[in-house]
Amino acid sequence: MTHSDQKSNNRVSVEPVDRRKDWKLLYHQQGRPGLEEGSRFKGLCRYCELHDMCPLPKPEGGIWRCTYYRALRKKSNVYDNVLKQLERAKEVVPFDEDICKILTETMNEIIVHFPVKMKDGKVKVFTGYRVQHNNALGPFKGGLRFHPGVDIEEIKALATMMTWKTALTHIPFGGAKGGIQLDPAEYSIEEMERITRRFTYALGDNIGPDYDIPAPDVNTNAQIMAWIQDTYMSTVAPNERNRCAHVVTGKPLESGGSQGREKATGQGVVLLIEKWASEHDMDLKGATYIVQGFGNVGSWVARLLQRNGSRLLAVEDVTGAVSNLKGIDPDDLAAYVKEHGGVQGYAKAEPVDHATFFGTQADIFIPAALENQITDATAELLNVRLIAEGANGPTDTEGDRVLQRRKIAVIPDILCNSGGVIVSYFEWLQNKRSEFWDLEEVDSKLKKTILAAYERVREAAEKYQVDWRTAAHIVALSRLEKVYKERGIFP
Ligand code: NAD
Repeated sequence: MTHSDQKSNNRVSVEPVDRRKDWKLLYHQQGRPGLEEGSRFKGLCRYCELHDMCPLPKPEGGIWRCTYYRALRKKSNVYDNVLKQLERAKEVVPFDEDICKILTETMNEIIVHFPVKMKDGKVKVFTGYRVQHNNALGPFKGGLRFHPGVDIEEIKALATMMTWKTALTHIPFGGAKGGIQLDPAEYSIEEMERITRRFTYALGDNIGPDYDIPAPDVNTNAQIMAWIQDTYMSTVAPNERNRCAHVVTGKPLESGGSQGREKATGQGVVLLIEKWASEHDMDLKGATYIVQGFGNVGSWVARLLQRNGSRLLAVEDVTGAVSNLKGIDPDDLAAYVKEHGGVQGYAKAEPVDHATFFGTQADIFIPAALENQITDATAELLNVRLIAEGANGPTDTEGDRVLQRRKIAVIPDILCNSGGVIVSYFEWLQNKRSEFWDLEEVDSKLKKTILAAYERVREAAEKYQVDWRTAAHIVALSRLEKVYKERGIFP
């Protein structure tokens, strides 16, 4: 697809490409990950489930795992899980078949292959994605993920979840998601800037301030949003430039970002935990919690929960897991992670394996990393009362069944991590109106919006006597169904 194709407003839909086989070859025939000196992933293959192919030593016991393997494996069911959740909601409420047909498909799937000059002077071609699931309720909206495991199936799943999330929270946006298949740790900051800018250029007018608005997700941040914003603004007519500042949200404050956006997702998770705890006889003062993923979402949840007097016992990220039952200081750990790139080697806690991390006895577990972490195996290990899903899709269908059987409460992802898109909406509104709201205003509006969504989910759970995940989907689908019925299907 050429840039001029995009400028002529062609929305391009392509068949999914299964790159899993290439992946295996790339990372395992070449002996990666883990063999390169200085690699962030050094040593992880000792857990690898591809043990026949993996050259590194096998573990004595415990759960086999490897970040790359897990990134591959999740593809097989992440989109299926999203569709299964829709089916489950349909079993309870007989939603209109025609509308379900529309919602089980994504509207546009854009795949771009774009060249970038690397620091060694050679050209590398990258693959980027933007999937626009639905825009019945407003412009497409959703994050951009830079990760080696990114592919069309994952992005389709995440885009669909965004549609449910915006419908559930009554935010006037649709659902989208995008990303580039790469590991940012392998590139210099200058290369990352060129990759980001060239990706933005390749997307062309498939994104836009009133059409499709990206935001940060895994391995992307305010700096990357600023590069996208600048690239987009530089490719429109000069007199349009300043009308495009809201082409992305999650920008740095000076470039039109909102107060409170960086912590918004974590803040939303904590607001919901506080609400849940107040209704379930859980005193957060002295309560304990464990967190998987210590990036934007996980580290903010950890820091904000501590202010309630709760104690962080264990953290796992891509580099490993650490535990200290006396308590880990989240601010201190965040400073360590900023310097060292992960929790591995943090001296004020003991290193523990994946199974020990999952089995830690605590009141709350906050998954804030990738999809499909809570499976039938890991759900059996958990020793908590509440799971607050900071990540998107952290629980697979079998894992969910185990949680229900074990009566572990779940605040489901499309509700729990919606603080990010809620404050993205506030940022977008501020940009459109040339306004700047103070932190107090943003925080209070976030609280009102997210707690209203919580009430809607609770009401649906009580009315239909279903779990909260199903209830959240029922609320979202009901809203979408209503809008489609009001408007009808063109022509
Ligand atoms: P991030 O890149 O800031 O952090 C990701 C974290 O996950 C890192 O600590 C990383 O080490 C860890 N991780 C990656 N692979 C892992 C693995 N295999 N095992 C354990 N840990 C692993 O990303 P983020 O923005 O914090 O996003 C985390 C999750 O929250 C994602 O599911 C994302 O879609 C979701 N989310 C993010 C936002 C947002 O505003 N950033 C909003 C809603 C939902």
